[in-house]
Amino acid sequence: MTSFPIAQIRADFPILAQKIRNKPLVYLDNAASCQKPQAMIDSIVHVYSHEYANIHRGVHTLSVKATERFEQARETVRGFINAASHKEIIFVRGATEAINLIAQSFGRPSFQPGDEILISAMEHHANIVPWQMLCRQTGAVLKVAPISYSGELIYSEFEQLLNAKTKLVAITHMSNALGSINPVEKIIAAAHAKNIPVLLDGAQAIPHMPVDVQALDCDFYVFSGHKLYGPSGVGVLYGKQALLEAMPPYQGGGDMIRKVSFAETEYAGLPHKFEAGTPAIAEVIGLGAAINYIQQIGMAEISAYEAELLAYATAQAEQIKGLQIIGQAADKGGILSFTLDRIHPHDIGTMLDSLGIAIRAGHHCAMPVMDFYGIPATARASFAMYNTPQEIDVLMQGIKSLIEVFG
Ligand code: PMP
Repeated sequence: MTSFPIAQIRADFPILAQKIRNKPLVYLDNAASCQKPQAMIDSIVHVYSHEYANIHRGVHTLSVKATERFEQARETVRGFINAASHKEIIFVRGATEAINLIAQSFGRPSFQPGDEILISAMEHHANIVPWQMLCRQTGAVLKVAPISYSGELIYSEFEQLLNAKTKLVAITHMSNALGSINPVEKIIAAAHAKNIPVLLDGAQAIPHMPVDVQALDCDFYVFSGHKLYGPSGVGVLYGKQALLEAMPPYQGGGDMIRKVSFAETEYAGLPHKFEAGTPAIAEVIGLGAAINYIQQIGMAEISAYEAELLAYATAQAEQIKGLQIIGQAADKGGILSFTLDRIHPHDIGTMLDSLGIAIRAGHHCAMPVMDFYGIPATARASFAMYNTPQEIDVLMQGIKSLIEVFG
């Protein structure tokens, strides 16, 4: 393993020191939600202890302070993904809300019957269902680019589906069920050549690799705070300013207006136009603290370390008879989805829990992916920067003992 300050990092995450069922916790459910560094927890405790008030419009000291912290967090997010302006960073509840916002605010006013939205066969339900709802509302049609058995987008088929009727490509940057990383640069270039905007679902990619929205040239990028070592209840919608300017508000209420009368309401400018009501103040500030923490370690370093973890885990898993890895894309992030002969994934999850190992078993909110492989579920171990090769050894030992007893 490359030099990586793993001992220090682990010490920064208090929950990792826990025992579960009398065994040291091995937390491998990071794709569902990851654990929190003390710096992030402290920032939330600090806000509520010393700097909490409702933000914007306040003239009193605490409100001004809370507003400054909130807007600083927006600037931190902007820098983290290299957006051109803070106006392009909209705080939402999570990736799910961000995609719904785009569907309803970008799609609904302008999509016509027969217009097409192109997704892939490896999407999370959050990047399927909002488009199905939009199709019902507008008469637009959902098109799905297929994947290969290894879990890769079949790029040639994707390209063929791009046409004059395609109004949006909405595709995951990295699959939560398979770990596959999509060739997003190529996808964006091909779509833009036909003037089609691209939304990237970055919920899984964002904690695992550097993301530069200007270099990618994506039109929208969405992610959730809780998968990025931050709090739940907060997420980010990045959109190019010109697109966001042209979109109507998603929700109406306080904070998103400039002037209200019964006759007429004038909306606020970006980013507030899309942030109706009191936001998740402490959580946004906590997300900023989580990003500051990550940046001290370095996304490139995290990415390289996790690649080694995945390679190590994959090599070990391949040695286990009766274990099938689901998703073997050449370009893959730290996710190991697998099945075992004759043992249901839910039983794998329950039995590993008795050894202190937290994995996820199920369809991972990607039922069409399970249908594609003809399986009801997979067991999924997913890695974060605080996981170690020793923990992977514990996982593999656990799997082997299951096979011995039940297989
Ligand atoms: N997209 C992907 C790829 C995901 O993995 C998830 C979370 N599992 C989501 C979208 C939705 O994120 P959230 O539930 O935080 O809104």
